[in-house]
Amino acid sequence: MHEIRWNPVLKWWVMVSAGRESRPLTPADHCPFCPGSGKVPDAYDVLSYDNDWPILAPLPPEVEPITSTLYKNARSYGKCEVILYSSDHNKTLGDLSPSSMDRLVDLWTERYRELGALDSVKYVFIFENRGREVGATIIHPHGQIYGFPFIPKKIELELASCKEYFEREEKNLYREMLLEELKDGRRIVDENGSFVTFVPYFAEYPYQVYVIPRRHRLSIDQLSDDEKRLLGSSLTRIVKTYNHVFPRDFPYMMCFDQKPTDGDDYRYYQFHVKFFPPLRNEKTQKYNACSETGGWVHGNPSSPEAKAEELRKIMETLYGGTR
Ligand SMILES: [Zn+2]
Repeated sequence: MHEIRWNPVLKWWVMVSAGRESRPLTPADHCPFCPGSGKVPDAYDVLSYDNDWPILAPLPPEVEPITSTLYKNARSYGKCEVILYSSDHNKTLGDLSPSSMDRLVDLWTERYRELGALDSVKYVFIFENRGREVGATIIHPHGQIYGFPFIPKKIELELASCKEYFEREEKNLYREMLLEELKDGRRIVDENGSFVTFVPYFAEYPYQVYVIPRRHRLSIDQLSDDEKRLLGSSLTRIVKTYNHVFPRDFPYMMCFDQKPTDGDDYRYYQFHVKFFPPLRNEKTQKYNACSETGGWVHGNPSSPEAKAEELRKIMETLYGGTR
């Protein structure tokens, strides 16, 4: 049974996909994303790949009608894709060459446009779960895209705040946040001509960063060629820096936030990328437990200013300073 079900209290959709709990685990020594697996071409650079176990699909099963004034369900329209960053099993986003990164940013842009053009897709969510701590069982470098048939709740909250701020102040909330961070300077980790990477003032996770364009862009497909190249550079540099924080793999969740594709006007929003890394230190993970899950209240066990300095120093060692 595949369907989406409405929670009338939180006013959000839950994707229900019975049977996924019994999907086969990939054997430890087999990688479906490596050339030769039979699942992917024998040679590729970057590649989009339809998820074998999609929770959302262009032609989802019909749903059983329910008779309720409180509850509702709907077909799980949408799309789930895997984005392979490289054919090299052991690379990470931080190891990609500038030209590979350019092709990856181009592929994300193409998928955003193509999925966003589907009638059923209201929001194109580009993301990467990296590491066992966030449920990624295959280490081969890859991210995913969900084409949602609704706007995710957290994005809806952001849009409402940005709209309210724009109507009151006639300014873009994300841009003002960026100016505030640049003015303070202590939490800036990296910057180039088009993007700034910083640990936000209100960071929930010790090593959380935002990557925000300097100019007003609503979605990845509004970036100029030069901005796309500089986005690729910013992402590579922060992931390579993450790779050097601990003498172990560095797990993270990377989420692209951008304009919904339902055709409405979102001029008050701003494209950006957020990283949520779950480690507090080399051995301890920050769990999303009762306070975070039941109350959406995070406790950050470290100073955002100190963590930004730590990341900045690693980046300086790796790259010889910001550009
Ligand atoms: Zn592989």
